[in-house]
Amino acid sequence: SKPIHSIQNVVVSSSLIVAMLTLVLPYNLSIRLVIAIAAIICSWGLGLGVFTWHRGLAAARYYTVAWAMLLISALVLVLSKVHILPSNVITENAIQAGTLLEAVLLSFAMAERINQERALRFNAQQQALQSQTQAREELELRVTERTQELEEANHKLLELSQTDQLTGIKNRGFLDLYLDKQIRRFAESQRSMTVLLIDADHFKPINDTHGHQVGDDCLQEIARRVENETRWPGDVAARYGGEEFCVILPDTGLAGANIVAERIRKSVAEAPVNTRIGPLNLSVSIGGYAAIPNTAQEPADFLSYADKALYAAKGNGRNQVQFFNASESQTDSALPHS
Ligand code: GH3
Ligand code: MG
Ligand code: MG
Repeated sequence: SKPIHSIQNVVVSSSLIVAMLTLVLPYNLSIRLVIAIAAIICSWGLGLGVFTWHRGLAAARYYTVAWAMLLISALVLVLSKVHILPSNVITENAIQAGTLLEAVLLSFAMAERINQERALRFNAQQQALQSQTQAREELELRVTERTQELEEANHKLLELSQTDQLTGIKNRGFLDLYLDKQIRRFAESQRSMTVLLIDADHFKPINDTHGHQVGDDCLQEIARRVENETRWPGDVAARYGGEEFCVILPDTGLAGANIVAERIRKSVAEAPVNTRIGPLNLSVSIGGYAAIPNTAQEPADFLSYADKALYAAKGNGRNQVQFFNASESQTDSALPHS
């Protein structure tokens, strides 16, 4: 600390001054000065050692013990000179032994100090490494978060591009891609599937009489009912265009598809649709095509066969279900209406 440093400077410079004075002063004066400054330096050094040892500096304990060794040996020498201690080999050589011990202990202190510096440097390196690692981890986390956000945004965009704005069900774009994939997969595994085309009956007069917005109300409600009746996982309901809807039923043959189609037809015909001008009675005609697709079969085949069946349903009086019969190459009311 600062005051200790200034005292240390005073002690060092005064001992230098005394050393130079001894060159010019008479011996009996300079010996007194030297003894006085030596006493001050010794007590100061010892005090400093104890102080820093107390403050937890490890090297200070070697330093303090070294100083104590030197002081004790000097004291032994002085006491033997004034005949308080006997003058013998031990007391005569005490100062040499003390000096030697001091040198050894001070080198220990130095070594300890060097070790400490090394440990400090090592710790600093460790810390730098740690903060580097932490920074990298934080960056990775942020990149992961961003990637996730992007994926979510992409997902939303994709969903939006596949959704019909008016009704909220799948749109034509999605249906075309899906049907293509579905037919390939089902041709490969030789499983049966059905396509239903659903068209609102006499829809033009509704628009013409009540306006487009009322027509839109009807389309939203029809979409909701169609979707409600296609409940199996893998079933897809889409708005095919205008007032036409399309349903794909995987792993469903003629019998099962007829049940679903009849359910859809009834769900529209049996309860009036609520519009902004009040309830309206509606009906739909449904054309279906059920088959195990062969590898050469185009999605367009499924759609055009279903459309042929739909045409037959319209011609037959509307509000009914017709299936295309491939073997007879004509439309056919495959199963009686239930
Ligand atoms: P049917 O199918 O029974 O033969 O008679 P239709 O009157 O439904 O015949 P058509 O298929 O020719 O008419 C379709 C009508 O559907 C034309 C248009 O008035 C209406 N329409 C088509 N798309 C929309 C739409 O997005 N919104 C509304 N409000 N009406 C639509
Ligand atoms: Mg139509
Ligand atoms: Mg129509």
